[in-house]
Amino acid sequence: MNRHNLYIKCVDCQTEFIFTIGEQGFYEDHKLYPPKRCPLCRKAKKRERQDAEHRIKQEQNYERRKQHEESSENTLL
Ligand SMILES: [Zn+2]
Repeated sequence: MNRHNLYIKCVDCQTEFIFTIGEQGFYEDHKLYPPKRCPLCRKAKKRERQDAEHRIKQEQNYERRKQHEESSENTLL
């Protein structure tokens, strides 16, 4: 098959980005759909998700720490 680089319009920022032959191979190997977002928006989305996960983790840690502190006052943070 004769592949060539594709240009895809990002659904978030409407910027056209390049979907390279190498990436196409990667997506095909992993049975993934072609990306809908440009790398920047993908990164932003990923960061958003990580931030949310991070926040949840921090809250859980905080809860744990609070409970811990209530039982021992010598805990170093
Ligand atoms: Zn974008």
